[in-house]
Amino acid sequence: MTKLLDSVTENYKLIEQNICDAAEKAGKSRDDIIFLAATKTVEPQVINHAISLGLKYIGENRVQELVSKYDSYDLENADLQFIGHLQTNKVRQIIDKVSLIQSVDSVKLAQEVARQAKIHHKTMNILIEVNIGQEKNKSGVMPEMLDTLIGEISEIDGIFVKGLMAIPPVCDDKSEICKYFEKMHKIFIDNSVKKSDNVSMELLSMGMSDDYSEAILCGANMVRVGSALFGSRTKK
Ligand SMILES: *Cc1c(COP(=O)(O)O)cnc(C)c1O
Repeated sequence: MTKLLDSVTENYKLIEQNICDAAEKAGKSRDDIIFLAATKTVEPQVINHAISLGLKYIGENRVQELVSKYDSYDLENADLQFIGHLQTNKVRQIIDKVSLIQSVDSVKLAQEVARQAKIHHKTMNILIEVNIGQEKNKSGVMPEMLDTLIGEISEIDGIFVKGLMAIPPVCDDKSEICKYFEKMHKIFIDNSVKKSDNVSMELLSMGMSDDYSEAILCGANMVRVGSALFGSRTKK
């Protein structure tokens, strides 16, 4: 365990440095970028070690795993979000536990999030997940349907749209993935200028272990990093 924690410490410093460098290149400051750790399969002890190093945001992508780990996270020092595909019938299990749901991609899901939020007398912040690669069988709203979806969601009470999230297709080279990041950034900017009641385009969540620097260069202000911080999930 000590060895694992030491490697997380090393990885954390390296990722911080890379985020700093990328932010500077993008004409931003380090504090403009949110570093969220994707914590699936990672033990709470290891997650809390990362939090002790300064990590401020963690994200789970399975409801059951989030619920079972919930009491063990150091949530006094970090913010818990939901980043995975969410089924409507599971919303109630996480509604009182997370500060942001990054993966809303339908009116039906938004309505259930809002309904559950109201039961808890809160407004839930969400990101809308965009299927930027227009891949079949992948979650996220198709780019051409985004305007309609935002329009419909903005009418729903109990929910607040904070921005957009995307998981681009797996790409062999960096220039290819940058095309998707740039496409997302353009959509984000186009939507930022529109005014709507329950919408404020502040967060653009994209970039993972292999490409978070590129994502920041293309305009991401939130990156979700898993294996680069905690090590490979298969080798455990
Ligand atoms: C696992 C996961 C990540 C991080 O993936 P890595 O390649 O391990 O960095 C980011 N976003 C989501 C939604 C994830 O499920």
